Amino acid sequence: MSTDAIDGAEGLGAVGDGTRVVRAGLPEPVKYEPTLPGPVFAAHFHLPGDPTGPYTYGRDENPTWTHLERAIGELEAPGEPGVETLVFASGMAAISAVLFSQLRSGDAVVLPDDGYQALPLLHEQLRAYGIEVRTAPTGGDAQLSVLDGARLLWIETPSNPGLDVCDIRRLVRAAHEGGTLVAVDNTLATPLGQRPLELGADFSVASDTKGMTGHGDILLGHVSCRDPRRAAEVRRWRKVVGAIPGPMEAWLAHRSLATLQLRIERQCSSALALAEALSKREEVSGLRYPGLPGDPSHAVAAGQMRRFGSVVSFVLPDRDRAERFLDGLRLVEEATSFGGVRSTAERRGRWGGDAVPEGFIRFSVGAEDPEDLIADVLRALDATQSAPGR
Ligand SMILES: *Cc1c(COP(=O)(O)O)cnc(C)c1O
Repeated sequence: MSTDAIDGAEGLGAVGDGTRVVRAGLPEPVKYEPTLPGPVFAAHFHLPGDPTGPYTYGRDENPTWTHLERAIGELEAPGEPGVETLVFASGMAAISAVLFSQLRSGDAVVLPDDGYQALPLLHEQLRAYGIEVRTAPTGGDAQLSVLDGARLLWIETPSNPGLDVCDIRRLVRAAHEGGTLVAVDNTLATPLGQRPLELGADFSVASDTKGMTGHGDILLGHVSCRDPRRAAEVRRWRKVVGAIPGPMEAWLAHRSLATLQLRIERQCSSALALAEALSKREEVSGLRYPGLPGDPSHAVAAGQMRRFGSVVSFVLPDRDRAERFLDGLRLVEEATSFGGVRSTAERRGRWGGDAVPEGFIRFSVGAEDPEDLIADVLRALDATQSAPGR
């Protein structure tokens, strides 16, 4: 077959997500070669004469990254071949690449105060470089109130772990009016749930350690960006810091992308079913899932998301109840991270970094049969009612 029909500038834009993910980033078929070429393990490449060309040294480029970067680009911006994507060793490497390649001493940056738990570590580092750090909550588009004169606005929606949502289009409009760049951490949604570049953002950034790769076995991150000059700045940062993914990780990620639609579809529908079941429990409070029609974020989320993600959060009465609930689960591993095919849950307060109640549970819904998963959760909740405190 020829892949022209689907790889052409327009072709893939017209197909469904399931079709797009199985073909994303595949090279033209070559007789006797595999559909997805294996990982290329190379620190350097044959390079006689002038040192130009796509592949020179392994910190700058690798053919396995190229395939993956094309694949992610096709998901972040279907039908827009000009968008550039760069892969990194982790989500934090991707986030740092945008922040530190775009900000200079004297600039101001606006970050969410309820975002990923390593963001406060970044505040310290940014301030040490003479960058002014302003924060505001994600919900209610509160970051608008501290935007004035900032160089960069950092959005995380839905936020981790509180699952608040902000209106990306509205924030982008206000930011761009004032000459402020906008980056969106799209980890929770994945590009099948939300496409920040189409909503106007300058950068779409994600930890692909989570739902994007979905098996809980690799760390990876990416940055997608429409402006070639900004992309070049991020690329330069990757080169000088060297936060590059291994070829094996990049290849595993590409292999995992083929099932992204299947995984996300199942995980999102099960997450909604779990949230609905939890909403009927009297010991559960603070239930959040952007896909739940009664959720405070639902209206805004529905205006910009196509799928609402695999994470549900809720609060049990106290730490003891939460710990006994986690102990009682049989199909759900107690572990951090999220977005994987195996359900995981944790008492988020155990880390100390998030402003959450002691009984706050972040639950990542996997690909198990939803009826098994929900039965397990309800049984574990029942068990916390009868068991005495430890
Ligand atoms: C996990 C996570 C990160 C960090 O990604 P790593 O791959 O662990 O470095 C960043 N942002 C969000 C929203 C995350 O959930």
